[in-house]
Amino acid sequence: MEQQSGKRIVVLSGPSGSGKTTVVRCLVESAPVRLVKSVSATTRPPRPGEVDGDDYWFLTRDQFLQRLQGDAFIEHAEVFSSGFLYGTLWSELDRAWAQGGWAFLEIDVQGALRVVQQYPDAVTIFLRAPSAAEFERRLRSRGTESEEVIQRRLATAAQELQQADRYRYTVVNDRLENAVSEICEILKAEEKARNA
Ligand code: 5GP
Repeated sequence: MEQQSGKRIVVLSGPSGSGKTTVVRCLVESAPVRLVKSVSATTRPPRPGEVDGDDYWFLTRDQFLQRLQGDAFIEHAEVFSSGFLYGTLWSELDRAWAQGGWAFLEIDVQGALRVVQQYPDAVTIFLRAPSAAEFERRLRSRGTESEEVIQRRLATAAQELQQADRYRYTVVNDRLENAVSEICEILKAEEKARNA
């Protein structure tokens, strides 16, 4: 596979209960570099309040597979063995770069590793909850998922944690402000290295 460099990509992964969504929102608002959040495509149905083209591009399985055939994705994966497909569209990376920003991908571990294969310079960050118990508490407090889904997510999270050392950085989300400012420092340093 052709390797490419010089493009600004930051990939953030972490289990659903790691507080990732809030961290991502704060980063997009306050990061010291321009972050353009990539909107993934998925076959998962929208949760209440989720907006097409904002949270995800919500596609039918046929639409997703059609785009896959057309090479529209830099990576795609079936997440949580749920049968739902998720993928990062090349058009989302191009949109970020056209704005002179970092493409900001919030994707799972499988996806992150595939992105790094193609862009070894990608800045990869693994966000983890401070403890397994806290992680489970956060997952349950959302109250949106069935017990079966929660159990699957806990199992996936345990597996993902074992992959954390494949990321360039690991950030513990003990307090939101700390995690966000730690990631801001990483981005500042990475931006500086690229401008040197
Ligand atoms: P959720 O369904 O809770 O929004 O997301 C479930 C998981 O899918 C999260 O771990 C998230 O990181 C992952 N995910 C979201 N978009 C993508 C994507 O484009 N590619 C991959 N590989 N994973 C994704």
